[in-house]
Amino acid sequence: MSITEWLAMGLALIMGSWALLSGQRRYGAGITAVLALLALGLSLAPLLWLGLAGVTLVLLLATVMPQRRPFVWFQSEPHKARDWNRWRDITQWLLVAAMAAAGAQYAIHVWQLDGGVPSVARPDVVDAFLPIAALIQLKGLLELGLWDTHHPAGLVMLLAALGLSLTVKRAFCGWACPIGWLGEQGYQLRRRVLKVDWRDTLARGPQWLNRTITVLAWLADWALRLVKYGILAWLVNLLMSGMPAMMVARYLQGMYHQAADLKMWVLFTQPSAGMVVGLMVVVALALVRRNGVCRYLCPYGALMAIAGAFSPYKIRRDTGRCLREAKGMNCDKCHRACPSRIHVEVVGTVHSDECHSCQRCVAACPARGALALSAPGRRWPLTPRAMVLVLIGFLFVLPLFFYAAGMWGSDTSPMMRTMLWQRLENLPLF
Ligand code: SF4
Ligand code: SF4
Repeated sequence: MSITEWLAMGLALIMGSWALLSGQRRYGAGITAVLALLALGLSLAPLLWLGLAGVTLVLLLATVMPQRRPFVWFQSEPHKARDWNRWRDITQWLLVAAMAAAGAQYAIHVWQLDGGVPSVARPDVVDAFLPIAALIQLKGLLELGLWDTHHPAGLVMLLAALGLSLTVKRAFCGWACPIGWLGEQGYQLRRRVLKVDWRDTLARGPQWLNRTITVLAWLADWALRLVKYGILAWLVNLLMSGMPAMMVARYLQGMYHQAADLKMWVLFTQPSAGMVVGLMVVVALALVRRNGVCRYLCPYGALMAIAGAFSPYKIRRDTGRCLREAKGMNCDKCHRACPSRIHVEVVGTVHSDECHSCQRCVAACPARGALALSAPGRRWPLTPRAMVLVLIGFLFVLPLFFYAAGMWGSDTSPMMRTMLWQRLENLPLF
């Protein structure tokens, strides 16, 4: 692992430790401690992990406290609803900072390729930005039992994201994706600068016009939401019918695949005219519509949505506590807080594929316990701290195990990468 990946891993473990220690109960600190010790045992940066071992020691002492029930941090830990926003914001900022640090290291690495063999290592985590390569790798794994050795981190992160979605719906989109985070920042900035809301404008006009445009917008929204599934279906079809298994094997051995991250780098740093137009559309969409890119265009989001449909954890409303049924009030704060504009206030369980498990609805709800991200039967509702631990488990601890098994780092040598960089325009596909 490169230095920025080690730092990210360290940050994640410190955050996990903080989540455990700052809770009312400290059950699970021992698990974190074991994982931190495992990381220490595998480390090539002993000082960093010695620091973590200190944290571990504190955690082990904390676990001495008596526990009345196991898994108590999953259910009865008292927390304020607004804690959700705080924990999500911190998680997103840390993840974005970690990705930015890895991006900076990667930029230096590529810059050094111009002068020969680079001295700065390539952070393998950048392979997470090669989703198409990861899908090809997945096909190679499923059909041929092949484990790609050039960009394995890409497949590991795809599996981690899928596992996360199978557990807590599209929490990857709502808590971890840097593109989604950038879109949200852009949207909020635009709202501050340009406070235009066409709904307000329409509401002041004639009712018939308001209704007509609302219906048309609803239909357009539905049609556009299918676009991301269309892009995903096109990619999957390309892989399934356009790329037979033996072709996959040859592709994964080839130079084009070895240089996939460099190709991606050039695509974004030296964009063609078409690419610039495409990026402008993406930026405009993000500024105009909240979660616009995730909602309409992102095939990765579509994949997470499909996996998320099987997740046992969903937003569930307790009608016995909701102010609407319990007190007859006309509350819709959860709906108004939802970036995907889901009508949480009228359903028992949110099944929508656009739910990112962001928990803004839970944070906005004034009736304690009326909303929760929980398993069927409203059992085992997650607390914000437990959510953070689930994220750390999938996005950091799982990759750590792959790293320990020697299935994370690329075996493309720095010398080979220099050669690939020099011949980037003329690499054969197979
Ligand atoms: S329903 Fe709740 S958790 Fe889902 S996207 Fe809306 S606000 Fe977020
Ligand atoms: S915000 Fe809470 S109380 Fe209000 S409608 Fe939603 S679930 Fe019910």
